[in-house]
Formats: sequence, structure tokens, C-alpha cells
Amino acid sequence: MTLLATSAHTERVLSFEDARRVVNEHAQQTAALQPPATESLPLLAALGRVLAQPIVADRDLPPFPRATRDGFAVRACDVAAAGESRAVSLRVVAEIAAGSIAPLPAIKEGESAEIMTGAPLPPGADAVVMVEHTHRVSQTASIERPVRSGENVVPRGAEAKRGARLLAPGARIDHAAIAVAASVGCADLQVFRKPRIAILSTGDELAEVDAPPGEHQIRNSNSFSLAAQVLEARGEPVQLPIARDNLTSLRELIRQGLQADLLLLSGGVSMGKYDLVEQVLGEFGAEIFLTGALIQPGRPVVFGRLGSSETRPRYFFGLPGNPVSTMVTFKLFVTPLIDALAGAPPSPLPFVQVKLKSEIKTKTGLTRFLPGRLTGSHHQSEVELVRWQGSGDIVATAAANCYVVIPPDRDRIAAGEMVSVLLP
Ligand code: AMP
Ligand code: MG
Repeated sequence: MTLLATSAHTERVLSFEDARRVVNEHAQQTAALQPPATESLPLLAALGRVLAQPIVADRDLPPFPRATRDGFAVRACDVAAAGESRAVSLRVVAEIAAGSIAPLPAIKEGESAEIMTGAPLPPGADAVVMVEHTHRVSQTASIERPVRSGENVVPRGAEAKRGARLLAPGARIDHAAIAVAASVGCADLQVFRKPRIAILSTGDELAEVDAPPGEHQIRNSNSFSLAAQVLEARGEPVQLPIARDNLTSLRELIRQGLQADLLLLSGGVSMGKYDLVEQVLGEFGAEIFLTGALIQPGRPVVFGRLGSSETRPRYFFGLPGNPVSTMVTFKLFVTPLIDALAGAPPSPLPFVQVKLKSEIKTKTGLTRFLPGRLTGSHHQSEVELVRWQGSGDIVATAAANCYVVIPPDRDRIAAGEMVSVLLP
């Protein structure tokens, strides 16, 4: 492979793991630089963003000892001898509903209070007997089972003490984080601004999506799949016009792309005569850390940087133009940089182990990430490859819902073996 035929750089083709390590190291360096600018958003609008402030408990959580069952609040020692054939009778001195504002009675020996889930445990009581194990007649509750002290109650402050840091800056805000913020009264959140990710597709054969393609042209789908992946990774895509396979067009659009926080190029990085991307990047003084990875699809993937690590470096990826290669290399390598530029720690790649449904035969030497279909449910998931025509086949890939990972030392994997699957 002569990726850099026109460039002064030497080739650096690495295994999948080493290539990923290189990218992660640079992501870490990026994260160590000044954090991104912040903005304030209404709570729900902050979903998917990265927290720029700590979220602190404004009071104990729960703020009172909370009943987790409907039943009777009791002193556990009063009902220690209870059994189905010899129920213990307790006087019912109050009914306590969730949100009740009436003063709570103190529970004394021989007393109980009817209590609902979410209501505060009255003083003196130390447990709740589930309503299923009780029988109430008028002001008397018959308790048919003993309870441990503390049973069916979450003590005040057991989840967090007032002032405790519940979420730290850098946390990705998912639905559970939204719940935490809501529970401590944060109606707005300080979050980091999204990194702007420039997307530049190259090729004379490409037509814009809304223009009639020439007979030997194809539509530019990569700019859209990449923009979609950027959105999924919570970046802000900036789609540039198509760069043509000539130096003037590439120079101008790469210059524009370098205004963003990260530049993604697609196409023009393999060994074709018109693959000029690396030449132009070379003119801009690019340092190149990766010129290929021993993977399929996506072997000719380029990763580099302009500017030094002391100033603000601009990273770029030269992703292969073949649409499935573009998608796979984004998934494998681009996300750590987007996370770092967003102020978040790198999210791990989501691999799971699944039983292979039908045999795979291939060649050794490359780690393969082939479009697959995961079926079955719960304890019985299975995966098989979708039929595809190679790394240009987006139709087959759209019918897939995962990538099956084939290690470089395997030329055959039998049906029934467990394989690694990369989830979308
Ligand atoms: P390249 O990496 O430029 O040699 O392109 C490899 C293959 O991907 C060629 O068949 C291109 O036509 C195709 N291709 C390149 N860029 C795009 C794009 N933006 N959208 C769809 N297909 C593309
Ligand atoms: Mg091309």
C-alpha cells in the first residue's frame, strides 16, 4: 500500500489496537488542554451534553426516612413474635400518606401507623410491615410477620448527604443524570459547548444530494452519514461543499475545514492518482500519526494534526471514501477525539459477546468489522453476517444492526462460537 506516494511522510500502518491507542493518546492530550467554553441550558435541553458544573445534593437524599412499601410503620421489637397463627395486635394511631403535611405522631410501644409508599416514617417506628402481611380491623392492625429493624425503609441521607457531589463536571448527561439534577432542583445546567466537526467529502465523481447526478457520478452520501455520526456522538457537524480532485479546490476547503475543532475528510486517501488530500495536508505542515490500520473495511485511514501541542492543535482524520469504510473508521477512531473536545472522558467502544449463527470463512491478517445482524432476545442473542458486496455496500449495511468482529488470526469461526460484536 502506497498511501503516501506524493508525501514526505513515512507510512504508519498499525494494528487496530495500536491505532486506537494512538488516537486515545491524542484525545487525552486534547482533554488536558483548556476545557471548552460553557453555556447554560434548560435541564432537558442538556440531554446528551457534557456537564460543566458539579451537581450537589441541596439536602439529604432521601430528605426523610422513606417507606418503600404500603403497610404499617411499627417498632420491629413489638412484632418480633408475630406469626400467621399468632398475629400481634397494634393500635393504629395515624395514617401517613406520601406528601402528608400533618405532624407525624411518635410511635410508642404497642402502636403503629398505616403508611403509604413514599411517606415519611414517623419517629419511634423503625420498620414497615407490608400490607400483605397485616389485617386491619377498625383501629387495630394485626401483624402476621416480624420485620427487621430498617426493613422497607430507606433512612434519611442513605442515598446522599446534603452537600455531596452527585455528578462531576465531565459527566455525559443521560436520562438518569437528568433525574439526579431534577431531584436537587437544577432547572438549568452549565454544560460545555459542542465541538464543531467539519466534514469534507472529496471526489470528482460526487454529486450533491439535491443536484441531478451525471451518468458516471454518484451522490455524496458520506457527508450525510458522517454528519449523522457526528450528531450521534454529540458533536455539531459543519458540512462543507464537495472538494474536487484538484489542488486548488482541496486547499481552499481544507483551509475552511481547519477553522472547526476537528476536520473529517472522506476519500482521496488511498493510492489513486487523484488522491491529493495528503499532499495538501503536507503543504499545511501536517504531522501524520497513522496512515492505515490493519482492518477491513477501512484500511486506508489517516490521522494527524496541524499546529503544536503547546498551541491549540487541529486534528484531522482522512477517512476512506468507501461509504462503509467511512462509517466503520468513524466508529472505531473518531469518537475519542469528539469526546475529548466536548470535555468528556472517552466513551469505550460497546463490544458484547454473542453466539455466532452461521459459520464465517475469511482470510487472516486483518481485524474485520463486518456488518452483522443481531437477532433473538435476552438470553438467546445470535448474530450472523449480512450478505454484502464489500465496503461500498450501504444498502446491506443499512440492513445490519451491528458489526461482527473477526480477530486477525482467525480464518474460520464455526457456528455456535462466541464472537465479539460492536454495537452501533
Ligand atoms: P476514494 O477513497 O476517494 O478512492 O473513494 C473510494 C470509493 O468511495 C470510490 O468508489 C468513491 O466513489 C466512493 N466515495 C468517495 N467519497 C464518497 C462520498 N462522499 N459518498 C459516497 N461515496 C464516496
Ligand atoms: Mg476519491
